[in-house]
Amino acid sequence: SSQYPDHRPLFSFASHSRVPAGFRPPPRRVVVTGGAGFVGSHLVDRLLEQGDSVIVVDNFFTGRKANVAHHLRNPRFELLRHDVVEPILLEVDRIYHLACPASPVHYKFLLTSTSEVYGDPLEHPQKESYWGHVNPIGTSPSVRSCYDEGKRTAETLTMDYHRGGGVEVRIARIFNTYGPRMCLDDGRVVSNFVAQALRKQPMTVYGDGKQTRSFQFVSDLVAGLMALMESDHIGPFNLGNPGEFTMLELAQVVKETIDPMATIEFKPNTADDPHMRKPDITKAKQLLHWEPKVPLREGLPLMVTDFRQRILDE
Ligand code: UDP
Repeated sequence: SSQYPDHRPLFSFASHSRVPAGFRPPPRRVVVTGGAGFVGSHLVDRLLEQGDSVIVVDNFFTGRKANVAHHLRNPRFELLRHDVVEPILLEVDRIYHLACPASPVHYKFLLTSTSEVYGDPLEHPQKESYWGHVNPIGTSPSVRSCYDEGKRTAETLTMDYHRGGGVEVRIARIFNTYGPRMCLDDGRVVSNFVAQALRKQPMTVYGDGKQTRSFQFVSDLVAGLMALMESDHIGPFNLGNPGEFTMLELAQVVKETIDPMATIEFKPNTADDPHMRKPDITKAKQLLHWEPKVPLREGLPLMVTDFRQRILDE
């Protein structure tokens, strides 16, 4: 059906689990920092569904209670308003760290890093072995070198805790991701174009629109994060969809999906905007047996259903 069921999985996870039929593992206690956010809330859906007990730690700066409201009556679900820069004592088996600020913690720890560690890349597509091309004092992209460098430092700290403290760690480098529950006013290109087309406003293309990005649907990312967590590999792993689009091509897909009358307008681009970005996912395919399944033309309508409803509710 065209209706996106908010509380149900977007696809079956069975192919990843490799567990004999009838076998029930003991429930795991899992913390998801940023679990009320866009990606975190989808991950929480999957973890609860596979039987885990889940504690969401979120300060609601960008996360929304509405994203996890459908779990509030579930006895295996707990929601804590807490900023992860403050220490918190929780006994758990797994930590998925999706909240942006980094914090040192124990047990198996998965850091969600970013494709922006590659900066404005001189290698295309980007392999995990590429060290990146980031301007540390600059504006790459927009005024966000703090984000790129913050995530690079988080990778360093994660590896230091692994090597020095023996913490079992995992590092994912997440490429551009879209889907239901994304912030309407996030300023990201997919959310902007979709919201603009639904509101009958022109889609704002920055620069000449020939820069590229590769867009991954959120259910593919969640499957990748879970496969990485349960694998025997530290990473880093690129998690992204290699399907590469210029911003003009993206605008065309949004137009075909939402409104054939949609228009575009050009706006100046931000300084140091990466010209191209596309993950090489050979490593994740080989070692995690993971690859994305949802192409842009299939994922976009699922996001549009959610955005249409939320824009109507405004
Ligand atoms: N972009 C655009 N119009 C918008 C928002 C973004 O053309 O309304 C462009 C932006 O210049 C960049 C690309 O889309 O080249 C992706 O931007 P986004 O902020 O979504 O992701 P990131 O730059 O972090 O990959």
